[in-house]
Amino acid sequence: MDNPIKDIRFSVIRKHNSANEAETLDGYKVKREKFLFFDDRLVHCAEYDSHFIYEDPSGKVNRWLQMCSCGSHAVCVGYNVYKKDASPTTRAESTAPGEMFVCWVHATTGRHADGSS
Ligand SMILES: [Zn+2]
Repeated sequence: MDNPIKDIRFSVIRKHNSANEAETLDGYKVKREKFLFFDDRLVHCAEYDSHFIYEDPSGKVNRWLQMCSCGSHAVCVGYNVYKKDASPTTRAESTAPGEMFVCWVHATTGRHADGSS
């Protein structure tokens, strides 16, 4: 059987212009997002100093949609995952309080994929 996971691709950041804007390898400008729509919910994005959560604008099939500008993909998680870094999101920030998009590498290792914290 085909494994759908093996076909997933990620956008690649070419230019990291600032802590709020960047450009992907295939020329899409991306910017810091405060919220993303996900699964019929509005979910707050983690606020990092050096990097930001964005949504891949290419519309390409099999591209992971939610990304961090460090190159990692982003994931929607509950408070347990980020309790070292922030307080739980409120109803004003996320449709499901507690949920937040975080950088997967940062959540796993404490640093972004480029080593910044
Ligand atoms: Zn990151």
